[in-house]
Amino acid sequence: MSLVVTSEITAGDYIALRRRAAGFSIADVAWKVAKKFEDRRVFANLLSEWEADLSVPSPAYLRTLQNAFRLDPYIFRQLVTSVGDPRICRARGCSALDACHDDAHRACAWATPAHDLCTTCAIRGAHPRGA
Ligand SMILES: [Zn+2]
Ligand SMILES: [Zn+2]
Repeated sequence: MSLVVTSEITAGDYIALRRRAAGFSIADVAWKVAKKFEDRRVFANLLSEWEADLSVPSPAYLRTLQNAFRLDPYIFRQLVTSVGDPRICRARGCSALDACHDDAHRACAWATPAHDLCTTCAIRGAHPRGA
């Protein structure tokens, strides 16, 4: 664990944030990406593991996830490798290359100096983690 406990987002947290922001359950994603029942079960188990940071999706699986919901592979790589300083909205997981849109269809921007909450989520009453 990092000594900075206030707002560390893991790669698994990021996948879960982006999945929930898209409005999908784990079963929903498995249903979208796999045709056969058995494959769906396997995929749902994998996705649960990734979100719990027990394992990391392969590049091929990462592309599969990207086909199911919006996920920034650059941010994801930064989180996996702990290289760089990824800026992620703590409420929905959006980032500079992967903005969400408000009710007026405007792309979000950063609402906080720390770049941890976007304008859309701030308007909707979300708060950065730990605030
Ligand atoms: Zn946003
Ligand atoms: Zn947001």
